[in-house]
Amino acid sequence: MTSQKAAENGKLNVAIDGPAGAGKSTVARRVASELSYIYVDTGAMYRAVTYYMLRHEIEPEDVDSVLKHLRELSIELVPDANGQKVLLNGEDVSGPIRSREVTGIVSLYSQIEDLRTHLVELQRVMALRKGVVMDGRDIGTTVLPDAEVKIFMTASVKERALRRFNELEKTDDLTLEQLESDIAARDKLDQEREISPLRQADDAIVLDTTSMSIDEVVEHIVSRCYEVGREVDL
Ligand code: C5P
Repeated sequence: MTSQKAAENGKLNVAIDGPAGAGKSTVARRVASELSYIYVDTGAMYRAVTYYMLRHEIEPEDVDSVLKHLRELSIELVPDANGQKVLLNGEDVSGPIRSREVTGIVSLYSQIEDLRTHLVELQRVMALRKGVVMDGRDIGTTVLPDAEVKIFMTASVKERALRRFNELEKTDDLTLEQLESDIAARDKLDQEREISPLRQADDAIVLDTTSMSIDEVVEHIVSRCYEVGREVDL
């Protein structure tokens, strides 16, 4: 029962999982802001590792080198006006980790078991004091299986590609079709990997956001948090 799990400070942990482009980060950031919680974008951590490895020309197949270099890395997520800044060994990499190059290969690095174990440990530490909204692929199933609120957000591939397309800068020359096939390929890798694949936790609330607005999704999750919070207070 959720009521036994809440921390003494009355805060909950909120896990938001789902496929690429489902709007998790926008929603998670807004939910965190409404509840005055900390937002943790775990995808940004996998992206930061990927960016570092690409910069050092370490291929995802070279697992030993990936793990060796992983020890040299420090990743910090720092709240700022745009939501969150990602610092890699102190350098702001928030922009470059969103490049198509990183996006296209991140799912290969994120299949490496020991890399995942390392990042999962960091993520668990971030959530120790509760009051965290964490988004990713394996938060409700693996990182925070005791999170009091678990959401699995999804939307059709077409809708997710369209959302990404509308966020693109005018200078990006990606077509909607390219985005759709990139997203479908990443979903497949994330769902089919052996370690902590993208999967909905048994106790997660599933939100198909295809025809929901961001406001509606945020409202839904925030009210669920208040509901669970009241159960906790009983
Ligand atoms: O959330 P975002 O799309 O930025 O995540 C980038 C990639 O990082 C995902 O496609 C997935 O391969 C990996 N990831 C993961 N587990 C998480 C978060 C992200 O494997 N918890």
